[in-house]
Amino acid sequence: MCSARSDTPLGHGLEPTRSLRVAVIGAGMAGILAVIRLRESGIADVTCFEKAEDLGGTWRENTYPGIACDVPSHVYSYSFAPNPDFSRMFSPGEEIQDYLRQVAADHGVLDVVRFGEEVVTMSYADRAWSVVTTSGDQGRFDVVIAATGVLHHPRVPDIDGLDTFEGEIFHSARWDHDVELAGRRVGVIGTGSTAVQITGAVIDDVGRLSLFQRTPQWIMPLDNQPIGAEQRTAFREDPDRLRELREFLERSFAENFADAVVDSESAALAKIEATCRAHLEAQVSDPELRRLLTPDYRAACKRLVVSGDFYDAIQRPNAVLVTESIDRIEPGGIRTVDGTLHELDVIVLATGFHVDRFVRPVEVVGPEGHSLEEAWASGPTAYLSIAIPGFPNLFLLNGPNGPVGNFSLIQVAELQMGYILHLVELLRDGTAAAIAARADAAAAFELERVDAAQRTVWVTGCNSWYLDAHGVPAAWPWKFQRFRDVMTAPDLSAFELL
Ligand code: NAP
Repeated sequence: MCSARSDTPLGHGLEPTRSLRVAVIGAGMAGILAVIRLRESGIADVTCFEKAEDLGGTWRENTYPGIACDVPSHVYSYSFAPNPDFSRMFSPGEEIQDYLRQVAADHGVLDVVRFGEEVVTMSYADRAWSVVTTSGDQGRFDVVIAATGVLHHPRVPDIDGLDTFEGEIFHSARWDHDVELAGRRVGVIGTGSTAVQITGAVIDDVGRLSLFQRTPQWIMPLDNQPIGAEQRTAFREDPDRLRELREFLERSFAENFADAVVDSESAALAKIEATCRAHLEAQVSDPELRRLLTPDYRAACKRLVVSGDFYDAIQRPNAVLVTESIDRIEPGGIRTVDGTLHELDVIVLATGFHVDRFVRPVEVVGPEGHSLEEAWASGPTAYLSIAIPGFPNLFLLNGPNGPVGNFSLIQVAELQMGYILHLVELLRDGTAAAIAARADAAAAFELERVDAAQRTVWVTGCNSWYLDAHGVPAAWPWKFQRFRDVMTAPDLSAFELL
């Protein structure tokens, strides 16, 4: 096993009574964070299992043209690793991946990552998890932190004839860079954030772009100006400026967006709606095209799309907005229900992800022999999105029903990791041998969460990946400050200390 020792002193200044062996699953943004924070807190024996051959998670897997983060980069970055060198306010994906690599290298994370090791099963007995990966038994771990991501199981649509297409076809998260787009007839299915970014990025190259829209999207304008060399130098020379920028962006992101979407009556949400509507009206001159692009639901009901180039792209002479429903895919292209065959050379499935997987498909078996699959039979839940009753010493980063979509997931993971470290400390200092969320606490949290979700914009009349199988938004339905507050320290009455 590849592990590393940390010389960092313990936060509480006392000798630990127990040295813990910790496994982290996944070396994406959250897994990198977990390794760094565990080792900083004095836990030396940390192993990170990563199924792929590289770190980065989402940013490793998504390499489609135009990929960028729509959360400002200086917020979508670790608080302990500010980056003065971001080239834009909203960085391209490659730059984020480079940033993650750099942070991992700077903090010695690579020493403890086992690449190409997919965790297959983990089972709990005698106060430890036995972890088995594709290459076999990895031994027992006192604690497992699942940092397995949210949007990473591509959803391939169930469209008749998908396999019969004679051109090239791939999902946006499995972009085939060997496929030539220049001058060719490209079809993109979907109008989510991904499809919108792809459309803006490829329109200059392709012969014709047909965008298959099932549902129009509200689009926030985005002025993604480069950050000039002078400003970057200033950030480098004066870290306070960078810190102030981050604080400003955090505050305005929370006030103007994250807090707005959880209150469907808020003035901030009304402002978002007005901005999106004005954007559409200002950018799309043809009334018929504008009508086709106008959603019949409230802005931000679906995950809000931000783009500065989509409306321009879709009005180009080589762009076609197809609003007829797809009937089937044929060898030569996509046939819509009106009988038209849209002839294509390439089809991109920008059709989103299965969002209810979390640590699965890892087979997780708790102390009583119950599987996570059984525990989540009616949908994934976890106390505060972190801990699952019946599964001691297993903690999730960016787990079910947490703050997704309307927050910086890096900020979220950092706050969650702080909370998890409090629990881990109880294991280390001997307060408990095992810790699990109490079932009654988890149920009470879930009841309150579901109730609050009814006041969000996500239930105001649209279909989106936020909604679970019961139509309830699978997300944190409160303001960001509440999340910060509850993450400060665990309320131990919600846990069984075993
Ligand atoms: P998505 O938001 O789930 O969008 C999927 C699109 O595919 C929707 O337009 C959907 O239509 C359409 N679709 C699915 N099945 C279809 C079918 N059978 N026929 C026709 N259309 C179909 O997926 P995404 O765009 O990949 O984005 C997922 C999430 O990733 C985003 O919401 C965001 O959180 C994240 N993301 C973030 C960024 C960023 O900049 N930070 C960029 C990309 C993605 P309906 O709307 O009708 O269902």
